[in-house]
Amino acid sequence: MNKALRKAVIAGNWKMNKTPAEARELLEAIKPLVKDADCDVIACVPFVDLDAALETVKGSNIAIGAENCHWEASGAYTGEISAPMLASMQVPYVIIGHSERRTYFGETDVTVNKRVRAALDNGLTVILCVGEYLEQREQGVTDEVVAMQTKIALMGVSAEELKRIIIAYEPVWAIGTGKTATAAQANEVCAMIRATVAGLYSKEDADALTIQYGGSMNAKNAEELLDQPDVDGGLIGGASLKPADFAEIVKAASR
Ligand code: PEP
Repeated sequence: MNKALRKAVIAGNWKMNKTPAEARELLEAIKPLVKDADCDVIACVPFVDLDAALETVKGSNIAIGAENCHWEASGAYTGEISAPMLASMQVPYVIIGHSERRTYFGETDVTVNKRVRAALDNGLTVILCVGEYLEQREQGVTDEVVAMQTKIALMGVSAEELKRIIIAYEPVWAIGTGKTATAAQANEVCAMIRATVAGLYSKEDADALTIQYGGSMNAKNAEELLDQPDVDGGLIGGASLKPADFAEIVKAASR
């Protein structure tokens, strides 16, 4: 299996933006612009927007995701949301291990793995984020860091469950900074992740895995990034809040 046989996935990560009413408005604007997409289209939204978002996209080709979930099903974890809670709302996707969670909220490779397990156990599909800090890239340890994040996050995940994992390679220095990895840099690390997954599972499993690039992807640079043989889609932050820009990226992934 090669890139031509993997469906591209474009996922928006809205981060901490939009009230439920604004979420409805944004999705209503995006819906007609992406209705002919030849790729999967996902909007990952704040927890409080999930209900409105799920209702707004009914009958459309947009799927909804959450931006995180806890590893326990319930308990004394003030402020957290569990995977069974998301499953009970029929939320199909969840982002796990975003660099903002790792940087600002003490997420570690081990807690990422626990959250991945909980999401899979509850039937969700995971968008698993990995990526290096600028200092790590400058020290020449990008491959080691990203391979380690990938291996730890996938601990205890079976080959069958891997079919419900999308990996998003997001160099931390490119997120929200306007600095994009070059197409060659993005492809190189996505290919390395695929080789790592092939080592853990099989070449066939790795060839079937969707690997996205994320980090200041926008309407202008999307085509070149998405053209790369190992880049199967994008995780989009800032541009996912702008309907026309998000639609351009979806269009680029549909070509
Ligand atoms: C992200 O939040 O995952 C992201 C890639 O953000 P941005 O596109 O704004 O860099």
